[in-house]
Amino acid sequence: MNTKQCFSCGAREGMRHFEGRGETMSVKGMERRVDDLSGWECQGCGEVILDPGCSERYSDACDELVIAGRQMIGNEMKRIRRKLHLSQKEAVLLLSGGGHNAFSRYERGELLPPKALMVLMRLLDRYPHLLADARTLGEGADLRGFKDTVHKEHETLTVS
Ligand SMILES: [Zn+2]
Repeated sequence: MNTKQCFSCGAREGMRHFEGRGETMSVKGMERRVDDLSGWECQGCGEVILDPGCSERYSDACDELVIAGRQMIGNEMKRIRRKLHLSQKEAVLLLSGGGHNAFSRYERGELLPPKALMVLMRLLDRYPHLLADARTLGEGADLRGFKDTVHKEHETLTVS
């Protein structure tokens, strides 16, 4: 029988060789199946080590899934931005801040947008009329609506 000692738990003849196994990996709700994997699995502790080649194939598939996930998020950002009739530059000024090319990097899937920005985009996707409010609220240092007053020794800053 094709067995060897487990390098993890030390069980003698714990690891058995397997072939033709399929594994499904999942990232951000996307799934990908990799077939025809071979390697060793411990009957005692469950440790798995894939054969050379299979191991590379598996980690490549995992990387591709992560990249595909970023691209899907990027496409979603682009779809919503276009729906709102904003250029990438306007979207940076109005919504995200950051470098002038931040949005283009998000949309190309080079960079994962911050969660707050994704939530904001999804809210605007659902309620596009709120873009007008976002514009008003985001304008310069406009503090209308703040109910606070700041007191210092010799000055009082009031917002009304
Ligand atoms: Zn083991």
